[in-house]
Amino acid sequence: MPLSHFACANCGFWQHHFAPPDCPVCSDVRNDLPPDGWHFLPEAEVTATHQGDAREVAPGLWAFTTRPALGLAGTGWLIVRDSGNIAFEAAPYYSAAMIAQIDALGGIAILSASHAHGYGALFQLQRHFDPAVVAIHRDDLKMTKAFRVTAPFDDMLELAPGYTLHHVGGHYEGQACLHDALGGRLFCGDMFKIDQHPDGRSHAISSHKAFHKDIPLTHAELRRYRDVIAPLSFDAVLTPFEYAPDIGRDTALAALEDGLSRAPGVRRMPL
Ligand SMILES: [Zn+2]
Ligand SMILES: [Zn+2]
Repeated sequence: MPLSHFACANCGFWQHHFAPPDCPVCSDVRNDLPPDGWHFLPEAEVTATHQGDAREVAPGLWAFTTRPALGLAGTGWLIVRDSGNIAFEAAPYYSAAMIAQIDALGGIAILSASHAHGYGALFQLQRHFDPAVVAIHRDDLKMTKAFRVTAPFDDMLELAPGYTLHHVGGHYEGQACLHDALGGRLFCGDMFKIDQHPDGRSHAISSHKAFHKDIPLTHAELRRYRDVIAPLSFDAVLTPFEYAPDIGRDTALAALEDGLSRAPGVRRMPL
C-alpha cells in the first residue's frame, strides 16, 4: 500500500502510513480501545462520507466541525486577524467547502494545537494553506507524524503580538494552551473539561489526566496549571470540544484550587 493518510475510526487520529498497525492515541491510557479491533479509514473514504459546518461563535472567531461525527468529534478554531489568521486545534476533517470557507476568510498564517486530542485533520490545513508556522510543544512531537512541525517550542512561544502558547503538561506531557490576550480567551486544550447544557450554558468544570477512565491529575500537575494561568487575563475558555464564554480566569482558578484542597480525585465542580 502506498503512503497515505488514515483516520482511526475510533478516535479520529490521523496517521501518514501505508498500513497503520495500531493507533497511538487509542493504545494510550488516556483513550479507550475500540471494542472490535482496529479500523482505519483511508482519506478518500472520509472525503466521500463526511461534510462539515462553520459558524462564527464570536466576532472574528470561527468554529469548524465535521459531520457525521468522526472520532472524538473536536472543533477547529479559527481566529481571523488582519495580520494573518491563526488556527488552533483542527476539525476531524475539512470538506472542500470548509477549506473554501477558510480561504474566503483569509487562509491560515499560523497553525497550532494543544495536544493530540486537538490535532484533528491539521495535516489538511498544512497541506492546503502551507502556513509559515506550525507550532507544537517539543514533548508532543512524537504524535505529529501526520504533519510537519516547523516551530517546536519549550515553555512559551509568542505566535503574534497578544497570542502566546504556554506549555502546561498535565493531561499530556506536551500539552500547551493558547492565550489570546486581545480577545480575553484561553484556548486551554484538555486542561479543563466543561460540561454544558444543550443550549451551551456551562454547568460543571473538571480536570483530568484521563477523561474516559476518570484518572485525576496529581497536585504538582494542578499547581503547574495554576501557576501558568494565574497571570493570564481571560473571560472565556475554549477546549478542543467546548466554547465556554461563561468561564473566566476566576472560575478556572477556583476549579484548580478545589482540586488542590483535597486528595487527588476527579470532581465535576458545579458552576
Ligand atoms: Zn484511535
Ligand atoms: Zn486530551
